[in-house]
Amino acid sequence: MPRSTTTVVEIKTATEIATMREAGRVVARALAACREAAQVGTSLLELDEVARTVLEEAGARSSFLNYRPRFAPTPFPGVICASVNDVVVHGIPDNYRLRDGDLLSVDFGAELDGFHGDAAISLVVGTGTSADETLIATAQEALAAGIAAALPGNRLGDIGHAIGTIGRRAGYGMPRDFGGHGIGRRMHEDPSVPNDGKPGRGFRLNPGLVLALEPMFMAGGQDEYRIGPDGWALSTIDGSQAAHVEHSVAITEDGPLVLTEL
Ligand code: MG
Repeated sequence: MPRSTTTVVEIKTATEIATMREAGRVVARALAACREAAQVGTSLLELDEVARTVLEEAGARSSFLNYRPRFAPTPFPGVICASVNDVVVHGIPDNYRLRDGDLLSVDFGAELDGFHGDAAISLVVGTGTSADETLIATAQEALAAGIAAALPGNRLGDIGHAIGTIGRRAGYGMPRDFGGHGIGRRMHEDPSVPNDGKPGRGFRLNPGLVLALEPMFMAGGQDEYRIGPDGWALSTIDGSQAAHVEHSVAITEDGPLVLTEL
């Protein structure tokens, strides 16, 4: 999401974090189901349907359906964002059928008992190129490094530095103005979590802060991006491939707690 200017940060209690863990499990289940369903010939709308079924079975609501941030011309029509190849994030699920070698990113959010979880995976459909496998693996490595930096007493810049250093070292671009965010009773809360930063700088990470960390890497190495005709899909400027991975993570006295894994 685009960075905001004023910062109002909600600190969660242990009970609220436990509730968010349950919302996160729903997110993890939906993404696992989408990963399994993402075969050659599967349409993006069919993947959306897979995720809707997980929501229904869990008694949860979609965080994405009908969501309309300031930049968007229309409410989002799906429960997943399905972003293929040069689409980085915010792809609207449509009739497109996955092909062998496609790089697919699926982003999904669920609300359960008043709290949201938000996560994303990237994968190769069928047999991919080694360049795409490396792009995805590097995004996952950056996410893990960001999570490892989500420690009480650290600062927001430590997370951004951890993520950004790995992306830059690999020569990848990162879309300007987009990154992670606080999450809780709303899907997008303060603070914004840039995917680059200076160690020791920025907002202090205290127990009870919950953040969605989401590296977005573009293979062509440019930070510029373009928005598609639907007003949503964010694509690389040079047609190069992109990967996006995300977890919602709580900062606790005992270290980072990943909320959106099984
Ligand atoms: Mg997010």
